[in-house]
Amino acid sequence: MKKELEALLAVQAQDTRIRALEEKIQRILKQRQQLQATVEAEAKTLEAEKHKLADLERLSRERNAAVDDLDSQIRKYQQQLEGGLVSFKEMESLRELVQHSRERIEKLEEEAISLMDQVVKESEAMVQREGSFSQWKGRMDEEIAEVDRELEEQRRKIDGERMKRQALAEQVDAALFERYERLLAEYEDPLASVRDGRCTSCNLQLSEITIERVREGLDILTCENCLRILYS
Ligand SMILES: [Zn+2]
Repeated sequence: MKKELEALLAVQAQDTRIRALEEKIQRILKQRQQLQATVEAEAKTLEAEKHKLADLERLSRERNAAVDDLDSQIRKYQQQLEGGLVSFKEMESLRELVQHSRERIEKLEEEAISLMDQVVKESEAMVQREGSFSQWKGRMDEEIAEVDRELEEQRRKIDGERMKRQALAEQVDAALFERYERLLAEYEDPLASVRDGRCTSCNLQLSEITIERVREGLDILTCENCLRILYS
């Protein structure tokens, strides 16, 4: 085989190696994205839970404030009643108001207590939840850092392989290499071997002359169908 063709075959083998590394890097990148997305989704869920707890706390405060307001309102009614400076009719309606307000405050107090209990329970749960989240996130961050190291290593590897390719390419005639590069835009394997008189890439039955000349290895020949560079 022509020495140039041998060099070109080495380039093609190198390209296969580089392609495999590129695919590997893509896989690692995808894995990294998935890890990142999982962390982000979990953080978002936790954030939503925190908002819910904050809403509950606000509701609890509001209910307590309502109890206090009503309580001072009842005191005012009572002061008015005790002051005795109101008519009988007004006293009747004030008593009714006090009665009604006491019923309401009882209900409000029950709600306020139940809300406070809920806040305490949910806050405790949140402390636990945040603790386990930060532990889990720590592990995920470690995993992502591990993926990054792997990525770094594969990138270093591919840089090395590309440099090797460059060195190999320099051993090939410039015009022939250009042809290879053009074919590479279309095929992963610009070089095809001849077996049983056929181009092994596109399976075309080659002419006797072509087969013979490929065997001699004196010229660079191409498949009449796919235009790949032939070797035997
Ligand atoms: Zn072919």
